[in-house]
Amino acid sequence: MAESPALDPKSPYYIDPDYESNENLPMAILSKAEDNYFIWKSDFLLFLRSKNKTGFVDGTIQQPEPSSPLYHPWETCDARVKCWMRSSLSEELLIYVTFSEAAHKAWEYLRVLFVPSVDFKIYELRGRLAMLRQEDGGDDSVGGYFAKFMRAWAELSEYDPVPECKCGGCNCEGVKRGKEAREKEQRYGFLMGLKKELSFVRTRIMLMDPPPSLHQAFVLVDQAESLMKSTRYSLGNRSMITTILSEKQ
Ligand SMILES: [Zn+2]
Repeated sequence: MAESPALDPKSPYYIDPDYESNENLPMAILSKAEDNYFIWKSDFLLFLRSKNKTGFVDGTIQQPEPSSPLYHPWETCDARVKCWMRSSLSEELLIYVTFSEAAHKAWEYLRVLFVPSVDFKIYELRGRLAMLRQEDGGDDSVGGYFAKFMRAWAELSEYDPVPECKCGGCNCEGVKRGKEAREKEQRYGFLMGLKKELSFVRTRIMLMDPPPSLHQAFVLVDQAESLMKSTRYSLGNRSMITTILSEKQ
């Protein structure tokens, strides 16, 4: 007789004997006030992947019939996923897990609560990105701004991904061009939000041929900002920084 999936570490029905229901999960606590659904979801999925349990939230593992030998392992695994979910939710959200018949249902309720409409979410994120400026509160360094910028873009890419090509194996370079267009949009957006004092770096970067990648552009601006901080800002330094940037081309 084959070994029960509950004893097989490779099976999603595996019941880990070392499980602790109150373990401190390495992830953000989801709350309405924080509006951190995207971060929480990414963290939670990563955690579930490490436990081979994503099927219990994405709907690929459905509840078996009570007569099935998988029924009890499913019940145990589903309850564990719900416990993990509970320990990463703020008080006000616990009810979504408590009264859902399966982890997958709770997952859906939370998605609908935080993202009732994908189109509206895209609209909101695009609006946020268009308004995002380096000077906006908190950490106003280029690094802090870039982190906020990339976080918003990661979320937007989830709901509004670069279109897939249907040519089969992609001989038309559609995917490649789509990714290039997306990167160009991001580069423009990033440069547009920079502080006024950095506008000369922006001009240098816009003139580069071929244009740098988004990450290269960030590195160049970051270096220019460090130089400006370490030396007293003057026209002399400004031309020195411009020379350094030119050498990077
Ligand atoms: Zn193609």
